[in-house]
Amino acid sequence: MAVSDPVHVRNLIGGAFRAPAGERLRAIVDPASGATIAQARDASTGDVDDAVRAAVAAGRGWAECTPAERADALLRLAAVVEQNDDELAAIEQRNVGKPGQVAALEPALTVDVLRFFAGAARVMEGVAAGEYTRDVTTMVRRDPVGVVGCIVPWNYPLSTAAAKFAPALAAGNTVVVKPSELTPLSLLRLCELAEDVLPPGVLNVVVGDGATAGARLAAHPGVAMISMTGSPRAGRLIAAAAAPTMKRLHLELGGNAPVVVFPDADVDALAQTLRLASFWNSGQECGAAARVLVHRDAAATVRDALAEMIESVAVGAPDDEEVEVGPVVSAAQRTRLADLVGGAVRAGASTAGTRRALPDEGFYVAPTLVWDVEQSDPIVQQETFGPVITLQQFGDEDEAIALANGTPYGLSGSIWSADVARGLRLARTLRCGTTWINTHMVASLELPWGGLGDSGGGRDASIYALEDHTIARNVSVALGSPS
Ligand code: NAD
Repeated sequence: MAVSDPVHVRNLIGGAFRAPAGERLRAIVDPASGATIAQARDASTGDVDDAVRAAVAAGRGWAECTPAERADALLRLAAVVEQNDDELAAIEQRNVGKPGQVAALEPALTVDVLRFFAGAARVMEGVAAGEYTRDVTTMVRRDPVGVVGCIVPWNYPLSTAAAKFAPALAAGNTVVVKPSELTPLSLLRLCELAEDVLPPGVLNVVVGDGATAGARLAAHPGVAMISMTGSPRAGRLIAAAAAPTMKRLHLELGGNAPVVVFPDADVDALAQTLRLASFWNSGQECGAAARVLVHRDAAATVRDALAEMIESVAVGAPDDEEVEVGPVVSAAQRTRLADLVGGAVRAGASTAGTRRALPDEGFYVAPTLVWDVEQSDPIVQQETFGPVITLQQFGDEDEAIALANGTPYGLSGSIWSADVARGLRLARTLRCGTTWINTHMVASLELPWGGLGDSGGGRDASIYALEDHTIARNVSVALGSPS
């Protein structure tokens, strides 16, 4: 895979690419080497205002398109992604450090998101029109919310951008998308490739960081809704900035998924599943299997099986075809993870890690299992969002659920037991949006994805995401008396 041309980091406003007017010039970096691959100027707040104006101006025309017309545009966008999948995957590999198989999934996921919402746009459901008051006919409309500000993280730059803007566009909203300041390249390249697909102003892009471009979007009176995926920290800042204008918020925030393992679990299946569920995309997954909680009768067996699995995980340069785990996205992430592991070890934890030597250059972190940790330790309480997982023990179901629910997050979790009834019973009390039984990290566009607590409350994917991007309104007509 090769990136054909350098991608220019520009804003897309009203159908035209424009140089950002912000003061800060930032380096876009290849995490595998630390080398600069593009220089990018941030958007100014004035750029954001222009983008919102363009989205407002395009709003009426887009809202008046039929669902079939909007679906057609999303399908054409999907076709552009599919026709250019190698190039877009190569950009993701270079900008995020994804190994080939992980990078290749980005365009495929993006196509799936776009096609799903193209179909969903045409089958919006609601309460039947009827006489809910005698002699008055009422119909329920689902109208667009308005301009949606879509704020995107770096771990899946293209498919998450699509997960934010596709339901918004399908429902008739126009959007201003702000990619992560670390990874703007794939979305911008798609916009270049798909220049003629959407009417000008329907999809605008502003580049730059959260504190300037993101915060302006969140506070802007012309933006009716923010759909954001990212950390709870940024989610809180966005909620505070959005409060004065009463925006609708759709927040998909972090996760810290528990993996609850009982003595009757299939340990081989667990280890095989966690090889992917904990380490895919270098563990930079909101749903990643992060905290293994194992019944004390199985603790030694499970710890040994996971340590053996982790020791064999191939970490290294993303362009090496054998590599499963590449670098993490930035030097800051690498330092954060080293601090979490170092802090745990200083407090008495033990570790097992990959046997492979890490490359000298780039932001590599060894896939690591950490045990002998306490529930209150930072490495347990905080989302690692990297290839580092913990193991704790429990004595009974109540303790397992207390540990599983004992962080501020509530995105996803899994329960491992041959007794499926036990899994279903515990699924009622596990505080999270998605519970898996005897598997982990299985997701699909038909199913809602989102959490509770610090994981935020919005639901991405599924018909619920489409509904979240509409306003339900009633129109009632007095039928009068027969003349
Ligand atoms: P981040 O919160 O640092 O940034 C996410 C986005 O928010 C970026 O575009 C950033 O510029 C923007 N932002 C930051 N501060 C802002 C502010 N004050 N106002 C407006 N925008 C602001 O997150 P990240 O480091 O890019 O991504 C990692 C986080 O994303 C992790 O916590 C991870 O769990 C979460 N995530 C969640 C899901 C999910 O579906 N729940 C999926 C992927 C990632």
